[in-house]
Amino acid sequence: MHIINLDLPPQVAFDEQRLRDHLVAHLNLKSESELFFKLIKRSLDARRKPLVSKLRIAIYESLAEEQQAQSNGLMLTPLSNDNTAKTLVIVGAGPAGLFAALRALSLGIKPIVLERGEDVRSRRRALATLNRQGIVNPESNYCFGEGGAGTYSDGKLYTRSKKRGSIRAILELLVEHGAPENILFEAQPHIGTNRLPKVIQAIREQIKNLGGEVHFNAKVVDFLIEQRKSVRSLKGVILNDGREIEADLGVVLATGHSARDIFVLLANQQIEIEAKPFALGVRVEHPQTLIDQIQYHGQRPVELGSAAYKLVTQVKDRGVFSFCMCPGGIIAPASTAPGEVVVNGWSPYKRNGRFANSGVVVSVDQKDFQPFQEGANDPLAGMRFQASVEKKAFEFGGSQGVTAPAQSLLDFIQRKDRDELPDCSYVPGLKAAPLRSVLPSSVEQRLRQGFKDFGQRLKGYLSPQAIVVGVESRTSSPVRIPRDKESLEHPELKGLFPCGEGAGYAGGIISAALDGFRCVEAAHIKSNCRSDDQWANILIDYTQYKGGIGS
Ligand SMILES: Cc1cc2nc3c(=O)[nH]c(=O)nc-3n(C[C@H](O)[C@H](O)[C@H](O)COP(=O)(O)OP(=O)(O)OC[C@H]3O[C@@H](n4cnc5c(N)ncnc54)[C@H](O)[C@@H]3O)c2cc1C
Repeated sequence: MHIINLDLPPQVAFDEQRLRDHLVAHLNLKSESELFFKLIKRSLDARRKPLVSKLRIAIYESLAEEQQAQSNGLMLTPLSNDNTAKTLVIVGAGPAGLFAALRALSLGIKPIVLERGEDVRSRRRALATLNRQGIVNPESNYCFGEGGAGTYSDGKLYTRSKKRGSIRAILELLVEHGAPENILFEAQPHIGTNRLPKVIQAIREQIKNLGGEVHFNAKVVDFLIEQRKSVRSLKGVILNDGREIEADLGVVLATGHSARDIFVLLANQQIEIEAKPFALGVRVEHPQTLIDQIQYHGQRPVELGSAAYKLVTQVKDRGVFSFCMCPGGIIAPASTAPGEVVVNGWSPYKRNGRFANSGVVVSVDQKDFQPFQEGANDPLAGMRFQASVEKKAFEFGGSQGVTAPAQSLLDFIQRKDRDELPDCSYVPGLKAAPLRSVLPSSVEQRLRQGFKDFGQRLKGYLSPQAIVVGVESRTSSPVRIPRDKESLEHPELKGLFPCGEGAGYAGGIISAALDGFRCVEAAHIKSNCRSDDQWANILIDYTQYKGGIGS
């Protein structure tokens, strides 16, 4: 096998037959029957005129060699029937929790997944009610329910994590459970809201078939803590119906960035947590044709999908950046309780909607949380600050369900108050309102300057057809649950493995899934060590994998 890198016009790179013809000629082959290859990476360089696609391709000598090409996948085998497998409680069935469960099964551990929300199918009904009637079900919404916040998302699978081996394993597991195969080689892979639920459902069935448990409508409301001398250990959890669920190996807490009741529970139980910076802003939406025109320097070539953008600038010492761009997508209501308005975005697999939306946000930290401190080092100050902005968005949105406050982008920048709003994809409805009254001034001022900077870079971005909708506030968790760097266990409560985005260790589907893997590996290592010293020194045994995951 050898690797080649090619720069090709997108018309060839994205058309399978034309690519095959090109490779046959490029490799001096007699015919297509001699061609055995696999795309490793395909990306588009939109900065170049004309557009160029960059390809990285593995070329094999024979069909046998192509078929033998190593897979990094996780070996999933059923648990034995003798009930001897040790149990691990996993709270939350988001990407972190579900991938933690798969990893547990690969290590012979029985995962018991507890999810406060409904299964994906029932969840769909709750989302319909939310979009059509503005009624928020606090247990089943865009953030809570099977698959977590990732289920009804764009399903973008990019991450800044460098753990390539592990990322490949996660992507392969997704493909094994029904995700499109091109996520294995596209530079910016995504699955889409319409395809994600089936993938999540297949993962749940897999967990159950292999011997794990998955429970819905199972909300954790308290912890089972054992105290011996000065050492506190987490032995299990208590559910909303009073059931006590014990665990042999501890509890992976993967409850996401919106589980405010869990943060309050931790604080009330005097389990150490800390306030964490996050980002706050608005969702901006343009007609997709406009973004295509800007990014493709004219009309979109038929072979290419809806164009995306990624923008970042610095205003008065803080980052202002685009976040979770959804080409051809919809702005969605991401509130988790009545009386608050939060927006986010999603796209279907084809990204063929009329609009392109993206969060545009500013970093916020302790300085912004100050007025919300209740006592020194209040770990919940950031959460209260976040909730206060969401409440204002509700009030300025008309105090009706999840109707959101909005302005045209130009009016927002020029601080003009007008009732006219450009077309928008947000289904529950909008109310024209000054977003400067909703956002803290430190955020509003930087956003206005940030948008002006973006307009310099993308000509046409500051369009009268662009709209801003408030507020984009659930960009990441406002709280961090500390954990030891090596053991991944909470420094003070033994048996607690804080995991995923809610604990402050992930931002997105892939990084949350990776963190799920890591937490289970840590719990597994701990269970195989006789002493803490041995645990501290042990190296993770990656032999379980077919190809060096985590290496
Ligand atoms: C609309 C939307 C679009 C997004 N688009 C993308 C995208 O395209 N790409 C991307 O990478 N990321 C995207 N994200 C972010 C991504 O979904 C999250 O980063 C990811 O889901 C975090 O995974 P997690 O498992 O840590 O937490 P979550 O996915 O938040 O899962 C936490 C789970 O825990 C459950 N839970 C909470 N409290 C309890 C309790 N007390 N008892 C039991 N269960 C509980 C919740 O119901 C939830 O299912 C999007 C998010 C949203 C809301």
